[in-house]
This record gives sequence, C-alpha cells and structure tokens, in this order.
Amino acid sequence: MVPLDARALSETDEAVVADRVAALNARFGQVDARDAIALTSLELFPGRNALVSSFGADSAVLLHLVADVDPSIPVIFLDTGRLFAETIEYRTRLTEQLGLTDVRTVTPDPARLAENDPHRALWMTNPDLCCHIRKAEPLERALEGIDAWFTGRKRFQNAQRATLRLFEADGKRIKVNPLASWSIVDLKAYAERHDLPEHPLVAKGYPSIGCVPCTSRVAVGEDQRAGRWRGLSKTECGIHVPAEADGSGI
Ligand code: SF4
Repeated sequence: MVPLDARALSETDEAVVADRVAALNARFGQVDARDAIALTSLELFPGRNALVSSFGADSAVLLHLVADVDPSIPVIFLDTGRLFAETIEYRTRLTEQLGLTDVRTVTPDPARLAENDPHRALWMTNPDLCCHIRKAEPLERALEGIDAWFTGRKRFQNAQRATLRLFEADGKRIKVNPLASWSIVDLKAYAERHDLPEHPLVAKGYPSIGCVPCTSRVAVGEDQRAGRWRGLSKTECGIHVPAEADGSGI
C-alpha cells in the first residue's frame, strides 16, 4: 500500500507519485470539492499546496471554496502580459471580495521575452513556445516548494478533459481537480448562492478566457473552450498537456 502522507513528493520519483495518485483516487476520489481542498491543504500537503487560477470565466467558484477553507492558501495568477484588462480588474475585485491574502501574480522572464518575442507576435508563429515562455516557465518557478496544486478544470469542458480524476500525477507533483465532476448548472447554482461576480467578458460571449490574441467568442452549441486558439489544433497552453495526452487553463 502506498503511504498517503506525501509531504516530501519532491524527494520521490514520478512512478511513486503515480502510485500515490492511484491510492488517493481510490480512497478519496469521491469526496466533494470543499473536502478535497481541506484534505489536500490541511492534511496531505500542509504548507506545500497552492491554487493556480486564471481568474477567468468560472474561476470564482474554486477561489471561493479555497477562501472558505483557508484564505491564506497561495493563489498563483499567471499574468502573461497579453491578458484582457477585464481579467486584471476581475482579479483585484475577487481578491478583495473573497479576502484572499496570498495572491501571487507571476510574470514571464523579461530576458526570455526580449530574446524570443521582441515584437509580441510569437503567438502567431509559434504559439506553443509563446505559451511555454509566458505560462509554463513562470508557473514552474512559482511552484517551487509546492507538492500539490489545485486546478479548476471540469470534465464537461471538452473531450480532452472528459476523464479527469480528482487527483492526477504531474511529474513529481500532484494536481487536484476539486471541480472535475461539476456541471455548468452546478457552477451557476454555486455562484448564485454565494453572490459571486461574473467575469465581465462572459456576458459578451466568452465562456473561456485566456490571452487576447488567442481568445474568441464561442457560438451556441460549441465546446466551452472552442474559442481558445481557434483554427489551430492547439487546445491547451502546455501546462496540462502531459496528463491529457493530446494537449488551464488553466
Ligand atoms: S495563449 Fe496565446 S498569447 Fe497567451 S501565451 Fe499562449 S500563445 Fe501566447
């Protein structure tokens, strides 16, 4: 039996993490979202957990749940330098409203941008590299010392996320997806019950919101994330690629 006390994941290897994830899913895979957050942050990985949030279209629900468990849980916000102004304002508003005390805004390395994206047009020629420099690299730095991180992904969002489990191996870390089984109806009901403000772009036809150049409106009947990297085979920014096999935001 793999021990469930995983406080030193960084000292293990990926195979051990995968075994531990299987054990966690077998034992706790059906707990509700709030219990999953409390279990992760207070018992399994105290002081070594964080939420990574885009402060996007339906981020408010998970942020509220985390704040309810412990408002000092670190919240990592990746400011790629290409976000909508509305997203930055929404981050500030939600942070204040929910009483979050440790929101960490993380930005790309200026030297990497100067070298690879001096004209801010890399998204057109090499979006994977653009996401790597603007999202994956800053996230990796921000996750130093973190063993488990919460994501807001849901199974209903697209085909790649349809089999998402509560716990998921992520190299030497574990991703925790407290909302994996939630539906759109669940999210709306929770947001209404707690009077959570909606991202201002949702009402304008954006059910999934990332960077300005790579986000477009979604038509009725399309996947929630159909407006992300529209016209390209790319469906994820790279942060979640390994677990989904074919490509978070956050
Ligand atoms: S979503 Fe687009 S602009 Fe943002 S980092 Fe990725 S490729 Fe670059």
